[in-house]
Amino acid sequence: MDTYEPPIFELSSPGKYGANVPDLDVPRAELPDDLLRQDDLAGFPELSEPEVIRHYTRISQRNFSIDTGMYPLGSCTMKYNPKLNEEAARMPGFAQAHPLQAEELSQGALRLMYELQADLATISGFDAVSLQPAAGAQGEFTGILAFHAYHLDRGDTDRVEVLVPDAAHGTNPATAAMVGLKVIEVASDERGNVDLADLKRKLSPRTVGLMLTNPNTLGLFEEHIVEVARLVHEAGGLVYGDGANFNAILGIVQPGAMGFDFMHYNLHKTFTTPHGGGGPGSGAVGCTAELAPFLPGPLVNRTADGDYAFITPEKSIGRMKAFHGNFGMLVRAWTYIRSMGAAGLRKVSETAVLNANYIRTQLDDIYPPAVDRICMHETVLKGQIAGATGIRTLDIAKRLIDYGFHPPTVYFPLIVPEALMIEPTETESKQMIDAFIQAMRSIAREAVEQPELLLAAPTKAPVRRLDEVRAARQPVLRYDADKFAKLRDSE
Ligand SMILES: *Cc1c(COP(=O)(O)O)cnc(C)c1O
Repeated sequence: MDTYEPPIFELSSPGKYGANVPDLDVPRAELPDDLLRQDDLAGFPELSEPEVIRHYTRISQRNFSIDTGMYPLGSCTMKYNPKLNEEAARMPGFAQAHPLQAEELSQGALRLMYELQADLATISGFDAVSLQPAAGAQGEFTGILAFHAYHLDRGDTDRVEVLVPDAAHGTNPATAAMVGLKVIEVASDERGNVDLADLKRKLSPRTVGLMLTNPNTLGLFEEHIVEVARLVHEAGGLVYGDGANFNAILGIVQPGAMGFDFMHYNLHKTFTTPHGGGGPGSGAVGCTAELAPFLPGPLVNRTADGDYAFITPEKSIGRMKAFHGNFGMLVRAWTYIRSMGAAGLRKVSETAVLNANYIRTQLDDIYPPAVDRICMHETVLKGQIAGATGIRTLDIAKRLIDYGFHPPTVYFPLIVPEALMIEPTETESKQMIDAFIQAMRSIAREAVEQPELLLAAPTKAPVRRLDEVRAARQPVLRYDADKFAKLRDSE
């Protein structure tokens, strides 16, 4: 049932308040004039407690979340985040630990970090792990800084080019550019792999390394990964692994064994720490023994007496984040790994891959696949429906909202026209996936017979199509009475 919704930004009225300030029980002290506010709190909303609670509860319910529905947003791995993780992260010993607390009083927290470093190293086949970076993108930045430092340390000063495949996530070229290096694009071949001939052409004594996602952003396993890594190493370069797609290969194959030198883990994708809405995330990184001295510190080590202690690697590129990374995320990831166990993690990937291929084979007769191959944990289809004119992938995505599903990732990877990148994850049931497939098939029918339904979508969401560019360029993130009045008048 719909509830009555008061206008959000007109609720304020002078004199209303939602706080009871207790009587003063200490001697009254006079503050010097220069510490006192000189002007009125103009434009500040004045509201009662129930109004504030209803406002925030209502807007929280407008949000689509993984706790309310299927969220097949490709590349983002929006799997269910077990509530057990939250319980662990809220334990007072973890939640209330102060980052400046002495090491001898933080042994439990340090042990958790030490074990998470070791678990991530084992799962990926690397020698060392740092839990510092706050997101995948920052993990990439860490890796390329480490590559750069590694080459300079060997006196190899001419390496200034980073190779990035054309299918890559935008953070890859952005990272290389932020380190001050030159980005060189490498083409993909018709099977969705790195084009080996193009790679050979672009490798040179100027190559810092290659940034590669495997499975790649087409959801495909790189068929020549061993050869790709060999070619890059032969040219004196290093191989960076974008680990955002790690969910496809857990317990099956290790990136370290495939020839990667360095990789970030998106703990908030693969290891069920919550994400969306901008964070906090965790982009822990793993690497080979050769690169370990360059990792950002502090890492946790175990001394001969069995105590846990922070250490900074000898040639560390420095800190990437205040204190010890996003510690709450580390507790959640540790809890997930320990509750799944090795066999459970392998099952995660097997199920994620099975689910994606099920969707692919149930939809590829109406939504053409980007590349017609068995996929990994996600499948990239095209929103090009035969017989539908004037319908674009964006319309299909918006119509899915009316069917109660979060849309897949759209228009990425950039090399696929009208891309629909679908990642069901392992946590959806067959019943749910079948409902999604049915929705996608109904939408394809509507696209031909009643295209106006797609063009008008979403009709059942709290808002219609938004001006996404304006929202990004002119975000209004705080209550500002004047600004809201102006925005209203301009509408
Ligand atoms: C999500 C993602 C990233 C960036 O990770 P963040 O944690 O969002 O910074 C990089 N590459 C790929 C392929 C991704 O899916």
